[in-house]
Amino acid sequence: MNLSSSEIKRLLTTSDPTAVDELTAEACRVRDEVYGRRVFMRGLIEVSNHCRNNCLYCGIRREAQCQRYRLTPKQIMDCCRTGHTLGFRTFVLQGGEDAWFTDEVMCSIVRDIKREFPDCAVTLSLGERGRESFQRLREAGADRYLLRHETADRRHYGQLHPAEMSYDHRMQCLHDLRDLGYQVGCGFMVGSPFQTVDTLLQDLEFINSFCPEMVGIGPFIPAAGTPFEQRPAGSVELTLRLLSIIRLLHPQVLLPATTALGTLHPAGRERAVAAGANVVMPNLSPQDTRALYAIYNNKLSTGSEAAESVADIRLRMEAIGYEVPVDRGDYKK
Ligand code: SAM
Repeated sequence: MNLSSSEIKRLLTTSDPTAVDELTAEACRVRDEVYGRRVFMRGLIEVSNHCRNNCLYCGIRREAQCQRYRLTPKQIMDCCRTGHTLGFRTFVLQGGEDAWFTDEVMCSIVRDIKREFPDCAVTLSLGERGRESFQRLREAGADRYLLRHETADRRHYGQLHPAEMSYDHRMQCLHDLRDLGYQVGCGFMVGSPFQTVDTLLQDLEFINSFCPEMVGIGPFIPAAGTPFEQRPAGSVELTLRLLSIIRLLHPQVLLPATTALGTLHPAGRERAVAAGANVVMPNLSPQDTRALYAIYNNKLSTGSEAAESVADIRLRMEAIGYEVPVDRGDYKK
């Protein structure tokens, strides 16, 4: 759908509840037309909290004084086995940029997952790598890649990241992933420091032109020990509005109800689905490492954020009128 910048600006700033209700209803109508009343599950496996980067907002940045861990390939396979039994048909391997996961190691993990679970999709979210690396991983069988662009405003990017990180390289990665045939996800935090309505408009413009298969957005939440630890968290309401706007701009997009939203609001996931989201990503990581992947304060990993609570997730979705199929949940062209 074509929404002009001024319409989007009005939707982002209005205090008229009727306008927000209409936006939400239209987003759901559009989503249901493409995907029906179905919410897809992905099992999130947080493979490592080692990271060579020093993003100013992130609780596992290089300089964070946190306890580090990384899963072994065997632990990752065990998570997939548990997940498959629970009905997951997509595994998302996410982590900091950890040099231990060389192309060789990662390709072998991807191959093993695809061999044992040929009915499943593998999504990677391992940060920036070179084009050749992305190509090798794709050839090993990876189907999708999530790499939030973080902000489509170059100046804002510089305010969120240290000088050694490059806006151009991040964008280049997204284009390489697209060229290599991945289903690609970009995204950003809502309410990150220095974000304005104008930077948000640039994010939406980027989404409109890049047309990713997935978009991950969630509120910024301060992380202890980071330069932004005293900054306020992003707004749940604004995140929900943005979910609806993204759905209208791009009806086919796969749009997760993120953990950050669930962390800030007990019904965050349900509210996100009611605003146009259609993906949930419960945590499949081993129970004893979940608390260590502390990218922000009080991150949820239990209750309906936990993969073992699949029955609860299904009930909660059914209660608001959605089915959770055992399905890879691929993008609909
Ligand atoms: N290293 C990979 C990357 O850079 O894409 C994946 C892991 S990274 C921790 C995943 C996402 O977490 C980031 O893209 C960022 O948007 C989000 N994130 C990090 N710190 C956050 C915070 N304080 N609040 C909310 N989201 C945060």
